[in-house]
Amino acid sequence: MSRIFSGIQPSGELHIGNYLGAVKNWVELQRSYESFFCVVDYHAITIPYEPDDLRTRRREMMVSLLASGLDPSVATVFAQSMVPEHTELAWIFNTVTPLGELERQTQFKDKASRQESIPAGLLNYPVLQAADILLYRADLVPVGEDQVQHLELSREIARRWNARFGEGYFPEPQAKLTPSRRIMGLDGNTKMSKSMGNTVGLLEEPASIWEKLRPAVTDPARLRKTDPGTPEVCNIYHLHKAFSPPETVEHVAVQCSTAGWGCIDCKKVLAESMETELVPIRSRAAELREDPTRVQSALDAGADKCRALARETMQGVRERMGFDG
Ligand code: SF4
Repeated sequence: MSRIFSGIQPSGELHIGNYLGAVKNWVELQRSYESFFCVVDYHAITIPYEPDDLRTRRREMMVSLLASGLDPSVATVFAQSMVPEHTELAWIFNTVTPLGELERQTQFKDKASRQESIPAGLLNYPVLQAADILLYRADLVPVGEDQVQHLELSREIARRWNARFGEGYFPEPQAKLTPSRRIMGLDGNTKMSKSMGNTVGLLEEPASIWEKLRPAVTDPARLRKTDPGTPEVCNIYHLHKAFSPPETVEHVAVQCSTAGWGCIDCKKVLAESMETELVPIRSRAAELREDPTRVQSALDAGADKCRALARETMQGVRERMGFDG
């Protein structure tokens, strides 16, 4: 069975953008692959943060992941900081990674341009990412288009290390492009993200979701209810495609393009579809919050398994690099 690895930042509760863009796909993949899903908390410290806040966000992310349907009896779910070999391998990979490759990474240029003082960790972020994946010798990495460049760098790092120390030791991980869509924020301008304040939380209560949906941006050309709209340019339509059954999506397209209903009617139907999917997730999250030991045991069991595999990989690495004993 092929092995897949994917990571997610401990940003606290999931929002529907990262649920639809990544985690829902993981839930589908977990039974078809040997799966490792990691809360990448060492990646989260390249920007200023509060330790207590990080703890809370990591716990909340775990609750969201398990509530979304990741099953710790099938997939390995863990936190990166519980397996120290991630940073050990990252240091080793730093020694074979060309600086120029790191400086060329679009995400680095993007993030660095927004910071006055740039920590080296921001530049080396993709090296730790390569270590995350290669530590488990994963064959496949489910990624969105925006992560393909980082994965290419992981492959390059594997090639360079292999060429120097052991041909074929690390597999070159392949991208498993996620079929999911890029979910726009409710402002309709940018990708849904916490930093843009345009998200809907996966565990948010229906009244609060409606508060956000009601004023959400739709087709800007649809000024009056009698103006026919163009569903494809409307973010609400794309959310219907993610949450509503196909017959409802078809109905939405017809009603919109013939001015058969107003945007509020359309949003009410979307809110109902979202509820159908989100109610069981919310109720699983409530159960998990009541029993924090379940979350902790899942993390501990995941980390135990990962530490054993990581030790094995590092033993091979150390031997091949002259660090015996
Ligand atoms: S009717 Fe629905 S799909 Fe059409 S513009 Fe309004 S919200 Fe968007």
